[in-house]
Amino acid sequence: MAKLVKIIEEKGIKDKNVLQAVQSVPRHVFVDTAFENRAYEDSALPIGNGQTISQPYTVAAQTELLEVEKGDKILEIGTGSGYQAAILCQMGADVYSVERHEKLYQNAKETLQKLGYRPHLKLGDGTLGWSAYAPYDGIVVTAGAPVVPEDLKQQLNIGGKLVVPVGDQKSQVMIRITRTGENDFKEERLSHFKFVPLIGEKGWD
Ligand code: SAM
Repeated sequence: MAKLVKIIEEKGIKDKNVLQAVQSVPRHVFVDTAFENRAYEDSALPIGNGQTISQPYTVAAQTELLEVEKGDKILEIGTGSGYQAAILCQMGADVYSVERHEKLYQNAKETLQKLGYRPHLKLGDGTLGWSAYAPYDGIVVTAGAPVVPEDLKQQLNIGGKLVVPVGDQKSQVMIRITRTGENDFKEERLSHFKFVPLIGEKGWD
């Protein structure tokens, strides 16, 4: 794990809380046994249903962009393996996470419970957010969207941040939106990434 932390630090991650969380969360528990020996490489790995556990650098970069403080209420769209949710829990956030694949939702639930993390998990279409618990201090989308989902913007607290990769299905630019007022949003366009598609009512078909 220390080697992985060094790799992502060298790639530019500075937030000590993020680095500490990557150091603490055992990534091998979130991947199939066939890939356990590759769990501490900085690469995405298959988790079934044609989906992946994101590259650790990507998880760290998105988490750093959220500027998470202890006690923040964070919504994740795309629970996948549960690794990103575990990183956020480890940082002391109150985590809500939505996944559309039932098998992945069940697996993530079991893994997170086994490790003692207690995020709130939901099976459903995350392109609509999770309005019952809104507003959130941060929302992170871990799949590539065709456009910024409007529902997610509306579920941010004033001062809250939405981190979402937006583009076509081959490449996306990471966008960070900060809600600066009831109807005011600041948008920053950052570097390029490659994610699996965000599929749903306000995403891809
Ligand atoms: N955050 C995950 C992790 O730590 O393992 C990685 C997620 S993977 C790159 C993207 C996930 O988003 C997949 O599990 C996929 O099923 C899910 N997804 C795609 N569209 C979704 C939607 N509309 N609502 C919820 N989850 C969605």
